[in-house]
Amino acid sequence: MAVRIDRDTFLQRALERFGHRYSYEEIDYRSYRTPVKIRCLDHPVRLIVITPERHLQTTGGCKYCLRRYRQQAMEAAVTVAAGPGDRQPGATQQPGAAQPWAQAEVSATATGSW
Ligand SMILES: [Zn+2]
Repeated sequence: MAVRIDRDTFLQRALERFGHRYSYEEIDYRSYRTPVKIRCLDHPVRLIVITPERHLQTTGGCKYCLRRYRQQAMEAAVTVAAGPGDRQPGATQQPGAAQPWAQAEVSATATGSW
């Protein structure tokens, strides 16, 4: 009943999902659930060992790319939170909040005991 995904199908799906971000030249494809070695072209210093299944279900398996995704997602969230429409109407500053008691104290001193 399980869908059989052979090497060509995997490569095709990976290409659809990631474009040419990863290199699949070194994979030794056995099955959808057998880890293969993939290289991130942005971060080729490290081979990624991942099952084809997980590769297609995640951001690909490169932890450097994952970190970048997370940062982008966080920045996007911050931008949305600080955007227009999130301002609270009615939360404006009160007029005359310049502490009248302080002013009274100053004038009392000025017209003091002299
Ligand atoms: Zn990467």
